[in-house]
Amino acid sequence: MSNENKNIHEFDFNLICEYFSLIERQGPGSPEMTLKALSFIDNLTEQSLIVDLGCGTGGQTMTLAQHTTGKVVGLDLFPGFIDRFNQNVAALNLENRVNGMVGSMDDLPFSSESLDLIWSEGAIYNIGFERGINEWRNYLKSGGYIAVTEASWFTDERPAEINDFWNAAYPEIDTIPVKVSQLQKAGYVPVATFCLPESCWTTNFYEPQVAAQELFLKKYPDNPTARELIANERHEAELYSKYKDYYGYVFYIGKKL
Ligand code: SAH
Repeated sequence: MSNENKNIHEFDFNLICEYFSLIERQGPGSPEMTLKALSFIDNLTEQSLIVDLGCGTGGQTMTLAQHTTGKVVGLDLFPGFIDRFNQNVAALNLENRVNGMVGSMDDLPFSSESLDLIWSEGAIYNIGFERGINEWRNYLKSGGYIAVTEASWFTDERPAEINDFWNAAYPEIDTIPVKVSQLQKAGYVPVATFCLPESCWTTNFYEPQVAAQELFLKKYPDNPTARELIANERHEAELYSKYKDYYGYVFYIGKKL
């Protein structure tokens, strides 16, 4: 890659980060669903080590931290998100036990069997669900938990338009029974599975983007990356509204044997 290309790439990267930093969450979810998932986890104490992989600016991590007593580490690839994450930690006075760090979910900076809980909302797709649950298992203590959200089909069949869109975006998308079976095969007890309600996508994810999109287009009216990013986000929101009966995010909670 030439330097020129690298600079262009870095510019795009920063722009995408800037866009998603304008909204509280970088993926569908809600504090209520984070707490519902947390209600299935029964091994936590003040000594626990909890990590949130692909934490973004920390929307769900702050909820998690405020309802647990152990140490919480948020890890994300984008330094801009981690800066914002650590500002949120300071604003909530949680610095003594919550910390954001830059890192990659495919090369975790933790010792094997050191974690009590691995959390990841709307992010495991970056390395793929099966790879993620298998690799991350090594970092969990026995009796430790994993709780992730993952794009899943609600039905065996679906219209071609949405099928093709997802198969291009994330070919590992599959039905809930397939994902549960992968969890069990990877060495977890599938403790709970539930679908995120529609408001997690609309009220909490797509609707806050509308204001961000207007702001962004005013700031970067002629920028092709900004225009493409916004066109993609709008297309995704339209597809969701048309085909929400067929897919969504599902919380998968597993306990390491
Ligand atoms: N959990 C947050 C963010 C979800 S968006 C929420 O629900 O709001 C997906 C996140 O994964 C982004 O913040 C992105 O920066 C991060 N990400 C992408 N690839 C990654 C990797 N290899 N390692 C760690 N984080 C990654």
